[in-house]
Amino acid sequence: MASTPLGPSARFNRDVHTTDDPMAAAVALRDGRLAVLPTETVYGLGARADMPRAVARIYAAKGRPADHPLIVHVAHASYLPEWGHPVPSYATALARAFWPGPLTLVVPRTARAGDFITGGQDTIAVRVSSHPGLQGVLRHLAAMIGDPAVGIAAPSANRFGQVSPTTAGHALDELADVLDPDDVLLDGGPCEVGVESTIVDCTGTAPVVLRPGQVTAGAIERAANVRMGHSSPVRTPGTLPSHYAPSARVIITSPQELADRATLRTDASVGVIALADIATPPGLVRLSEPVTSDDYARVLYAALREADALRLTEVLAVPPPRDGVGAAVLDRLTRAAT
Ligand code: AMP
Ligand code: MG
Repeated sequence: MASTPLGPSARFNRDVHTTDDPMAAAVALRDGRLAVLPTETVYGLGARADMPRAVARIYAAKGRPADHPLIVHVAHASYLPEWGHPVPSYATALARAFWPGPLTLVVPRTARAGDFITGGQDTIAVRVSSHPGLQGVLRHLAAMIGDPAVGIAAPSANRFGQVSPTTAGHALDELADVLDPDDVLLDGGPCEVGVESTIVDCTGTAPVVLRPGQVTAGAIERAANVRMGHSSPVRTPGTLPSHYAPSARVIITSPQELADRATLRTDASVGVIALADIATPPGLVRLSEPVTSDDYARVLYAALREADALRLTEVLAVPPPRDGVGAAVLDRLTRAAT
């Protein structure tokens, strides 16, 4: 990413209407405009899911290929059957256990879900976010248009292949120069989870994790009392091997390798992301020192952005333990490193 002495965001125009009022975002969406929206995972770029032209602008703004499907956000689990059918009983159990929360369920689609959202696939990805800002937007939008099951199509608010934004400022850095002045950015503060939702294929006899997130495979098995499946026919284009990548080269490393590398080469153009109990070798730039795996997930994308803002050439990342959200952190680091 190009950057200036003022930081990576200084080159963008800032004409996008920024607000903390969910009603303003709901009005924009109602009228077919785009809204950048906070969720508990990362910021999303939303449009009314029943408006093909608004949804087309999401693809144009992101530079996203048209065959990559979008996640649809709804207000409540009870609207899942409006968008997906049939919904297997384990999926209903997962919705009950984890919604609102950072979980996306892929189910066969109903007529509500147009080709322009699903990338032509016969499945739809549905999510209910716990973020009060996004919940407010859905409530206002539903009331204004008289459709409680209304959906907002919202992929992450980054340009295609880039790091997902976890603050309103980062979303603006990504999209300010491609949004219109009458689009809206709803500032809901920094995202609590920090990595994208767990996506679960619910089209077969057993759930299959398509993208790891804070909701783990173990938690899914316990909540729905099922064994995880392992292969899925569902195409998930957003989970390309190389994704979520900053300009700096990301290298996954162990604490020992980190120490060894630094003795070989003390270099102020190399950044370090690791848990706080791992020391920064002399001369390297500490980007982040999260205390727990949850902290690690929360700060990861901001740290990768910081690496580019500082024009670092390399980032050495020591992943957290793999339990909990740690598996999702390792997944994102692996993609960033590819
Ligand atoms: P993002 O746009 O960053 O929120 O990522 C959305 C992810 O959901 C991408 O990886 C998509 O490929 C995936 N996705 C959305 N809809 C579907 C679907 N119907 N089937 C499978 N994956 C989907
Ligand atoms: Mg994305």
